[in-house]
Amino acid sequence: MRVINSLGVVGAGTMGHGIAQVAAQAGLETCLVDIDQTALDRGVAAIEKSLSRFAAKGKISSEDEAAARQRLSTSTEVASLADCQLVVEAVVEKLEVKSAVLGQLDKVCSHDTILATNTSSISITKLAASTSRPEKIIGMHFMNPVPLMKLVEVIRGLATDQPTYDAVESVSRRMGKVPVEVHDAPGFVSNRVLMPMINEAIFCLYEGVGAAEAIDEVMKLGMNHPMGPLALADLIGLDVCLDILRVLQDGFGDPKYRPCPLLVKMVDAGYLGRKSGRGFYDYAK
Ligand code: NAD
Repeated sequence: MRVINSLGVVGAGTMGHGIAQVAAQAGLETCLVDIDQTALDRGVAAIEKSLSRFAAKGKISSEDEAAARQRLSTSTEVASLADCQLVVEAVVEKLEVKSAVLGQLDKVCSHDTILATNTSSISITKLAASTSRPEKIIGMHFMNPVPLMKLVEVIRGLATDQPTYDAVESVSRRMGKVPVEVHDAPGFVSNRVLMPMINEAIFCLYEGVGAAEAIDEVMKLGMNHPMGPLALADLIGLDVCLDILRVLQDGFGDPKYRPCPLLVKMVDAGYLGRKSGRGFYDYAK
């Protein structure tokens, strides 16, 4: 089986920098790419902060912290990923942006590079069609925050071959994750179940059934959820939630996935949750 020792990540946002961190910690040579230098700097700062927090808590040694940092390089050019054995794209949840990035990677990367997508909901088969190597395209859906969450949903497109699947399953374990195979359907399993709950919580707020704190408290104390759905939506990013709901709505043609108008309005206002400092809660420092 093919052993992956080098990994590229495209998109240094909430997910991309987390994926790069766990890869570097697992001993992979890792290159993080973003078109936006500011996003790249923010991503690297978040990785450094997380590594030093792990070291301060004694979860990793200071040697491991330094080694992980050393294995990480950055770039604003996808061409820097030409020789990576595996590239995970973690750019925004829009079909046209992801297809363009995968198409670009397909052109610059070595013919045996596996291209994975961290999409939350978009068809792997459709994304694979924007490349000339559909057998080497696969879904690798990490959870947020990546350094702490164990699950990776692994999704085969129609053409994904077995060596690709095996290499990705194996590198996921090496990164300390538990890969779970699911089929290629809108939202896979995780977001098909999670997003309707988050959307319904937003409808409860919109219709005045409860205040944000009350809705979250009900779900934490009543259902034993570690986090309320509105706080979780803020952590995920309200723009990401909206994009996923739209993929579910389009994909199933079922009005039950209709995004709550309050979610649409908040995204229009730029209230995106933690990453923008304001969502259902205020995160201004
Ligand atoms: P984000 O908005 O935090 O980050 C996206 C990053 O991609 C930004 O830094 C942006 O500059 C960069 N980018 C955009 N276009 C680019 C391009 N053409 N080339 C290079 N970089 C580009 O988004 P996120 O929350 O990290 O989500 C990324 C992906 O991960 C999405 O597909 C999302 O659905 C998925 N995902 C998100 C979560 C979550 O909880 N946020 C969980 C699992 C999966």
